[in-house]
Amino acid sequence: MTTVIPLHAEATGGCSTAPVLRERGQREVFCGLTGIVWLHRKIQDAFFLVVGSRTCAHLVQSAAGVMIFAEPRFATAIIDERDLAGLADAQDELDRVVTRLLERRPEIRTLFLVGSCPSEVIKLDLSRAAQRLSSHFMPAVRVLNYSGSGIETTFTQGEDACLASLVPTLAPLPGAAAPGLVVVGALPDVVEDQFARLLAEIGIAGVQFLPARHAARMPAVGAGTRFLLAQPFLADTAKALEGRGARRIAAPFPLGVEGTTRWLEAAAAAFGIPASRVARVTEAARARAAAALARQRTALQGKTVFFFPDSQLELPIARFLARELGMQVLEAGTPYLHREHLADELALLPAGTRLSEGQDVDRQLDRCRDQRPDLTVCGLGLANPLEAEGLATKWSIELVFTPIHGYEQAADLAELFARPLRRRELLSA
Ligand code: SF4
Repeated sequence: MTTVIPLHAEATGGCSTAPVLRERGQREVFCGLTGIVWLHRKIQDAFFLVVGSRTCAHLVQSAAGVMIFAEPRFATAIIDERDLAGLADAQDELDRVVTRLLERRPEIRTLFLVGSCPSEVIKLDLSRAAQRLSSHFMPAVRVLNYSGSGIETTFTQGEDACLASLVPTLAPLPGAAAPGLVVVGALPDVVEDQFARLLAEIGIAGVQFLPARHAARMPAVGAGTRFLLAQPFLADTAKALEGRGARRIAAPFPLGVEGTTRWLEAAAAAFGIPASRVARVTEAARARAAAALARQRTALQGKTVFFFPDSQLELPIARFLARELGMQVLEAGTPYLHREHLADELALLPAGTRLSEGQDVDRQLDRCRDQRPDLTVCGLGLANPLEAEGLATKWSIELVFTPIHGYEQAADLAELFARPLRRRELLSA
């Protein structure tokens, strides 16, 4: 049997100039605090202190699960009635909480003060607190702040805000340093190791990752830095890096065999390495991934899928499902459409795919019900009602809790979509 090892099919210009339905109504999304769940696992000497309400504490705790054997590296400083009524000096209270925390946890190197809806409503100035506490606790601990508030944001923006807050703290690249590559976006360690190995074999030396696993290993940046986004939701981080002189390498995102290959090729081209070398280095991994995907294609080929806007991963994943698994995308909704960062993805999406940006949830539900897709990708709040109406759903939050990037994970990514279809078939048999 001949195994087809796709490098990639030709881009057709797809949706580059397609109209986008812009909606600005009621939205159903998680807030940016959710990012703490994967960020605290990634940055192993960081602590995330949410300054928020009991609701915020419940959200983070239930999303992250209960840790029995280790002390968690996240907590919530609860804003109570006295703070809300202005009876207590919230800045003094915060100083006391942080001092106690850092005395108890000497291994912490970076402390993130994470703003929330309540801290924004009472206009608690966390950047002033972070500066004051940082000057007190440096050099042992750096204190930074960002907002995870759900006011006007979606859940992956928490990671963007966190990484953007790190950028000004990155060391400058020494003038004589050779141009270096920084991969930007929190990836599970196993995926990061695979990419580091592949990029080294391709011939790009000394690749660094933002965020690094430890404060002391955060990359240096400067005019010689080229960076490659691993996630499509890092607009502010990219802007901050560009402000430091770094230049983005334009590429689709490393999801699926095609996305991963094009992503690696773009990195290689930026360092003067030909695509033929990428093809040689990745041949075995592509063959494995193609064989694993062929099994998933049987379940997914010809099925229709509808994306509600949630994770900002919608467009790259719609491209993967359409081009590598033969699914028909009825609507690809995204909370924000960053045309520059998503230019390669738009070019690869099949022409005629309906694109929507933002949300007016009732109108979008109407479109979804009209079309009755085989699979609906949406947030948790919409999934249960749609399941009750007989629609198969996939929670978009699973896309950030599961390793999905790169060749070795391509079939796992496809499996996330095949599983609800199989379950629905069993239920209706
Ligand atoms: S930050 Fe806002 S949306 Fe998120 S849990 Fe707290 S109150 Fe709710």
